[in-house]
Amino acid sequence: MTGPVADPVAVAGPDPDPDLERVAGLVRDVPDFPSPGILFRDITPVLADAEAFTAVTTELAALVGEADLVAGIEARGFLLGAAVAVVAGTGVIPIRKSGKLPRVAASRTYDLEYGTATLELPADTLRAGARVFLVDDVLATGGTAAASADLLREAGATVVGFGALLELTALNGRPRLGDVPVHALLTA
Ligand code: AMP
Repeated sequence: MTGPVADPVAVAGPDPDPDLERVAGLVRDVPDFPSPGILFRDITPVLADAEAFTAVTTELAALVGEADLVAGIEARGFLLGAAVAVVAGTGVIPIRKSGKLPRVAASRTYDLEYGTATLELPADTLRAGARVFLVDDVLATGGTAAASADLLREAGATVVGFGALLELTALNGRPRLGDVPVHALLTA
């Protein structure tokens, strides 16, 4: 978790999109969560709104392209990733926090603002050479997305893109993804 960033949530890109503008208005700012000084961007109201959830899912699914699998990052990335996979016509796999999976294909520990976190990939879900599109709710410093991409590559996959609902641009996470194309529907 990273912050505080008090910039308003807006639609990314130059073209006005009334559906996404409505989505932007549904993202809820929660100051001092999960710890003092953090401005948490809560996407729960977006997911709970049928039209907004459909708009977001449709937009992200259009970015999946030739990928044959979507990977969702724990935990809100599971909700978005699963919906995106159905619309895009792919399967979905979870990238999980440590200790949750019965069989692990690969594991990656990365630095957080304070301490470290570990992400794991389930065994027997990826064929070598699979093209994977990564999904999460928020791109902040990019550490989580970069660790997820590393995990997938370690397991023999190619990461063809990363899509988030919201990018916190001041935290400059994009370069952490290297040459993986990064897409965000909203910015703040
Ligand atoms: P990061 O690794 O810094 O890019 O953080 C990304 C992960 O942490 C995502 O899975 C987000 O769900 C979560 N996250 C980080 N900062 C925030 C924030 N300000 N509001 C909501 N979620 C956040």
